[in-house]
Amino acid sequence: MKYVIALDAGTTSVRAFVFDLRSGRFIRGAQQEVGQSYPQPGWVEQDANEIYFKSAYVLNDCVNAVGAENVAGIGITNQRETAVMWNRETGEPVCPAIVWQCRRTDAFCAAIDGETCKRIKERTGLLPDAYFSASKIKWNLDHIPAARRLQAAGKLCAGTVDSYLIYKLTGGKAFVTDHTNASRTMLFDIRSLDYDAELLRYFSVSRDMLPEPRACTSRMGEAVFGGVKIPIAGVAGDQQAALYGQACLSEGDAKITYGTGLFLLFSTGEKCVSSENGLLTTIGYTTAEKTVYALEGSAFHAGSSVQWLRDGLGLLETSAESEQLARSVPDTGGVCFVPAFSGLGAPYWNGEARGLLSGLTRGTKKEHIVRAVLESIAYGARDLADCMQRDSKIRLREIKCDGGACANDFLMQFQADVLGISVNRPCERESTALGAALLCAVSLGLTDEKEIINLRKSEKIFTPAQDRSRVEQGYRDYRFAVERALLRK
Ligand code: ADP
Repeated sequence: MKYVIALDAGTTSVRAFVFDLRSGRFIRGAQQEVGQSYPQPGWVEQDANEIYFKSAYVLNDCVNAVGAENVAGIGITNQRETAVMWNRETGEPVCPAIVWQCRRTDAFCAAIDGETCKRIKERTGLLPDAYFSASKIKWNLDHIPAARRLQAAGKLCAGTVDSYLIYKLTGGKAFVTDHTNASRTMLFDIRSLDYDAELLRYFSVSRDMLPEPRACTSRMGEAVFGGVKIPIAGVAGDQQAALYGQACLSEGDAKITYGTGLFLLFSTGEKCVSSENGLLTTIGYTTAEKTVYALEGSAFHAGSSVQWLRDGLGLLETSAESEQLARSVPDTGGVCFVPAFSGLGAPYWNGEARGLLSGLTRGTKKEHIVRAVLESIAYGARDLADCMQRDSKIRLREIKCDGGACANDFLMQFQADVLGISVNRPCERESTALGAALLCAVSLGLTDEKEIINLRKSEKIFTPAQDRSRVEQGYRDYRFAVERALLRK
């Protein structure tokens, strides 16, 4: 069998790709947009049925293109944390899926007592927040009578998107999840690799409602396409799949995804490192033999700041144009930008902070502002990287990059300058889907970690070129601007 299919069930679209095991490349893709609804300010919902039907549609497209008998397996990666609740007997959702971005449980999470907060951090590696699945599941149990009724009858299932898709694709035979997705529920003990009984109690969740957690390289079940059974083997949440797809398999390996937001994941190998600097400890990936941990930090706004320049201020026609404008000036002319449009994430964790553009003079041109925005993305990554190195006492050697904005050579070069290490851009930029395909191939014994490392080819490596003292001065100016953004209360 020559192919593996990767399903990437993202927030705004679901995509499937055919991965050719001989060439190590994707040869076909299919995509469907997925809708979101915003029933109240700060609330974000999706229809799990739509996610499933569109996933099945793109999978069908790819399977049919190469013939089901030629497909060795399906790997799945997905938007994390989003909570789906469904009826175990019918497979039908009992309420809308509460999406990771949804803030409806902010007040509940803010009221979690100190003891429980401590337990959450110790056991799950997370910081108590509405972002993770636990409070979303609890919200449904408290507000959707049908959910409570099904729970009492032992017929309720609750899980992240991966578990719902696997359940549906296997005709309800497999009720499972992988360890990386489980590690985002805020109910999962990342050391014992099992749900934590006390946290289950706190969030009113019964164990039988939750999918069985398995290693990322497990056989999860079988999907049937045109009468042919295809194993689903290889599952990980999107950021972890990207880490794997970038071949960040060893301690000290790290990747940054420059999408709407920015996600830095830093592998700490088999060491589970707890953060003193507001980062999350998470599972990088698991196999039958080992658990690899990672530190995770994210900035809410990266590519979205460039979108704001384009759509909000009208300074750009396209996001890509930011590169040429930034290059047309030697520096920002003293302009500094802090992309705190909706507060600041790690390591500041301040929801009240708001964006700031400082150092404006009568000589400020739009090019300076565009450059300051791109520089702020790199400085945000520097904040996270510094914390990770302090927490883990492991030195970063290199950063692997992916996501839409990694196409920007100015930004990648500036990132290398600001971090003082090289930034390595791969030929295959669909790291997330690649991670799912590779986890599946490993699970089926079709490849191994050594081959994965050889498979990854660099398209371009950006090495630090700027004078250090100049870069450090720029970073100090940015930190000073952040302090001012934090003052806004
Ligand atoms: P997501 O998966 O979060 O939707 P993508 O990885 O598709 O995001 O990246 C899209 C983001 O990258 C957009 O916010 C866009 O503004 C930004 N982007 C795309 N190309 C460039 C570029 N050449 N320079 C800067 N930003 C870019």
